Amino acid sequence: MLLQISEPNSTDIAPRERKLGLGIDLGTTNSLVATKSEQGADVIADASGARLVPSVVNFNGGVTVGAAALELAVSDVRNTVLSAKRFMGRSRDDLSEAQLLGLAASDALAFDTGDGPKTPVEVSSEILRALAARARDSLEEQEEGVVITVPAYFDDRQRQATRQAAELAGLNVLRLLNEPTAAAVAYGLDETIAESSVVAVYDLGGGTFDISILRMERGLLRVLATGGDSALGGDDFDEVIVSWMVDQWGLVDLTRDQQRRLTVMARAIKERLSESSEVSIKASGEFSHFEDLPVTRETFASLSEGLIHRTMRACDQALDDAGVTEVAHVVLVGGSTRMPVVRDAVAKYFGREPLCSINPDEVVALGAALQADILVGNGDGDEALLLDVIPLSLGLETYGGLIEKIIPRNSVLPLAKAQEFTTAKDGQTGLVVHVLQGERERVEDCRSLARFELNGIPPMVAGAARILVTFKVDADGLLEVSAREEITGTEAALVVKPSFGLSDDEVAAMLRASQTNAAEDMQARQLREAKVEAESLLHGLAGALDADGDLLSDEERADLEKEAGALVTALQSDNTDTIRSVTDQLGQASLTFAERRMDRSIKSALSGVAVSELEAED
Ligand code: ADP
Ligand code: MG
Repeated sequence: MLLQISEPNSTDIAPRERKLGLGIDLGTTNSLVATKSEQGADVIADASGARLVPSVVNFNGGVTVGAAALELAVSDVRNTVLSAKRFMGRSRDDLSEAQLLGLAASDALAFDTGDGPKTPVEVSSEILRALAARARDSLEEQEEGVVITVPAYFDDRQRQATRQAAELAGLNVLRLLNEPTAAAVAYGLDETIAESSVVAVYDLGGGTFDISILRMERGLLRVLATGGDSALGGDDFDEVIVSWMVDQWGLVDLTRDQQRRLTVMARAIKERLSESSEVSIKASGEFSHFEDLPVTRETFASLSEGLIHRTMRACDQALDDAGVTEVAHVVLVGGSTRMPVVRDAVAKYFGREPLCSINPDEVVALGAALQADILVGNGDGDEALLLDVIPLSLGLETYGGLIEKIIPRNSVLPLAKAQEFTTAKDGQTGLVVHVLQGERERVEDCRSLARFELNGIPPMVAGAARILVTFKVDADGLLEVSAREEITGTEAALVVKPSFGLSDDEVAAMLRASQTNAAEDMQARQLREAKVEAESLLHGLAGALDADGDLLSDEERADLEKEAGALVTALQSDNTDTIRSVTDQLGQASLTFAERRMDRSIKSALSGVAVSELEAED
């Protein structure tokens, strides 16, 4: 079922103004910011037209970011930080000797600069701040939120560090999105490819190589395997040219400065070779007494053969890990895939032409922008903003003619949720499961979807039976409700048809009615909702721990269980505020877990739900 999303977490049904969502590719070498407008997604350039922001920050009595900082990288090496992304979420123990050079001699990992020690999070936050400022200046508008991309292999600490950097920069993070998934989204693969099709994303950046294998599973682009080499990228191609120049010119005992200058020359040569089949290295400045050096693509190809071979071995491994042999699409990402030698090798390896019509150094940011646009709620046209969501909450009739919501509206499909009920009367042997849809509190104000009976419950005192009711909505919007008496195993179930028979207008009318009547029995409703939210969070968490508990350390798990225990206690208080605050606390505490789980199976072009809602899902 495809239902148009309404604004997340809101019952506003009036036509909306377009909100600004930004997609940010926070790269090791370069970063970019993009947004989607009526014309489509595009990268936001600065006043001079530059689209990439070098991920470089200089701290010296002030903060300089981007191209200006890159210039300082040569003249003010000590105060200029490059490639901070490599250090995000890392501790000293994770780093090699070489990486520790240039870091401040403090306990926390930080770069030594003219303005004191700067942590990788602080450095990244300056880059993010600069990107957001660029967007605000250019669009003259404040953004609603941002989607920031991270490598698929980033672990929780690295993701957490990325979030912190964004918070430090004052940004509202809608979601962290895996880079390869963002690239696939930019090509629309999340919407166009067939079920179980495999996509390989080959990302050769400045200093890193990442290969990711994704597969479309029930409408989700799932990351099956990641691989690569964190010390292999465009820089190494620069280096092979430098070595060749050193060799050709017979240079010895280069100073660090000379080395940097040769590297700058080599990079320019490499990039020009992507356009021309032969270029000449001009022997200038201190090297002017040497001969100019002609370089052909063939020369470069033979110099870089070993590097390219290494990327292919990593592809072998990733395909092997994913257990696939056939890929339907190959997506090229990263500035280094501009090199014809790389393109040719990739095409040959995978046996198909890679997708490269979108700028490889922009594709990730563009995918993130599309996602951000959806997440801020710009569901206006009939474009690809049709999402699989539940338009109205689903619930059950409970004692007293009230509805107990099991699945809140705007939840993303597919999903399953369960809740435990019990009997209200002594000796009760059957009960009616009445499935309802709507936002109101009382049964008569909601829409009745179906009714069925669960019989054969052994007679017990009221409250002793344990009846687990499960709502499952599959990717096609098919709702299946089942009820099971846990002690005897008695079961009953039924299936409700897709879209539950409501037109958009009817959905809108129901939302409006729920708003108009909102004042009615406010307190009772709030208490009830706080309880429902708390209980479904607890339940979702329990299910999540069952399913994906392996993502947590014993200590992390114990912490979460302690928070959950506090919420169980709070629930007994019947105090709305207490329940809410403890629920929030648990929500916060399980963010990390939710992030890891989402990473395991991220739905690509979703979604109007906040992280806290996703957590509550099974
Ligand atoms: P990252 O993802 O690591 O931030 P990018 O995707 O921006 O990096 O890639 C940067 C790398 O791409 C650099 O090594 C740069 O030299 C290389 N690159 C950019 N344009 C070209 C080009 N036209 N030909 C070859 N390499 C290029
Ligand atoms: Mg990149």
